[in-house]
Amino acid sequence: MSKTWRPATQLVHGGTLRSQYGETSEAIYLTQGFVYDSAEAAEARFKGETEGYIYARYGSPTNDMFEKRMCAMEGAEEARATASGMAAVAAAILCQVKAGDHIVAARALFGSCRWVVETLAPKYGIECTLVDGRHLENWEKAIRPNTKVFFLESPTNPTLEVVDIAGVAKLANQIGAKVVVDNVFATPIFQKPLELGAHIVVYSATKHIDGQGRSLGGVILSDKEWVTEHLQDYYRHTGPAMSPFTSWTLLKGLETLPLRVKQQTENASKIADFLAEQKQVAKVIYPGRKDHPQADIVARQMKGGSTLVAIELKGGKEAAFALQNALEIVKISNNLGDAKSLITHPATTTHKNLTDEARAELGISPGTVRLSAGIEDTDDLIEDFAQALSKIKA
Ligand SMILES: *Cc1c(COP(=O)(O)O)cnc(C)c1O
Repeated sequence: MSKTWRPATQLVHGGTLRSQYGETSEAIYLTQGFVYDSAEAAEARFKGETEGYIYARYGSPTNDMFEKRMCAMEGAEEARATASGMAAVAAAILCQVKAGDHIVAARALFGSCRWVVETLAPKYGIECTLVDGRHLENWEKAIRPNTKVFFLESPTNPTLEVVDIAGVAKLANQIGAKVVVDNVFATPIFQKPLELGAHIVVYSATKHIDGQGRSLGGVILSDKEWVTEHLQDYYRHTGPAMSPFTSWTLLKGLETLPLRVKQQTENASKIADFLAEQKQVAKVIYPGRKDHPQADIVARQMKGGSTLVAIELKGGKEAAFALQNALEIVKISNNLGDAKSLITHPATTTHKNLTDEARAELGISPGTVRLSAGIEDTDDLIEDFAQALSKIKA
């Protein structure tokens, strides 16, 4: 494997471990355990004197390929594959804090991520402050002597707000805290949090990395020192490991990731431009459009726009429901990153558990819908929106 390969090459070849059969596609090693040539070899493996696998909860060859390919893509030294995105988020945060520590997190988080820091962590004596992550001074003001972790997602779900990752990393470094970035919405193609100064990156691989609606998965990436000190034992002994079958699915997903993200982004950007001109639409939020409220930060830290679009309809919930029900190609689903275009109404689905006030803070109104653009033909998607909008009163 060459370090100088560009992303599209890494995503096809990075991390491949060929067996003695020389298979073209990656093999699935669907095994729980491993056998040793001798009792002495087992002893040496357990002592860490020789390289090799011990038990699939700790690591296994198919997972290794997925982890190494992700490392090559992300510029990370180490990775751990997990059974879901939430297993990755929970492990990345909880493995490095103890009672008495303090977390600062952006309030605009995926619902389950917000639950981990806002509800779960305090049960174990870990305090958490949620801030409006768009403004650096809010992060700075929230710092306490015991702050250990900063946690954010950028762009955010569902209103595609952006956080200045390099700015947050600078603040964290001043106090020796670690920055964890949930990079799902940006994808590894468009944003490299580690290069921007973040310390740990997490993904729900369920989204663009699989990209074809099959498997749940997640991954945590960082440097060797952090993984050895904090994550390794947590991962081994709490058991969030990914199934090798899932790793194989995701290895196949990584091969086509750049092609899919490119087409999804082109679709999203053209649909955003089309919708911004329609009389039924109050507002379109799309990172990559000049009218994005934080277009300057987008230009600084992202290589491309987004595969997602937030759309606010003038007619509130009634119009949002009518649009979703009238779409023919675009399916109603709270998932995202799929080859199929998907649309959801956050106020009644993904963000229904928030108070009206908390939803308003995040810019989620009754008329907000979130589109995850798929890889279908652009003109078919625009025609689908045109026919659906024609059925809504302006
Ligand atoms: C989906 C998602 C998660 C959780 O991932 P799962 O694979 O569903 O567990 C976390 N963060 C973000 C931003 C997501 O979109």
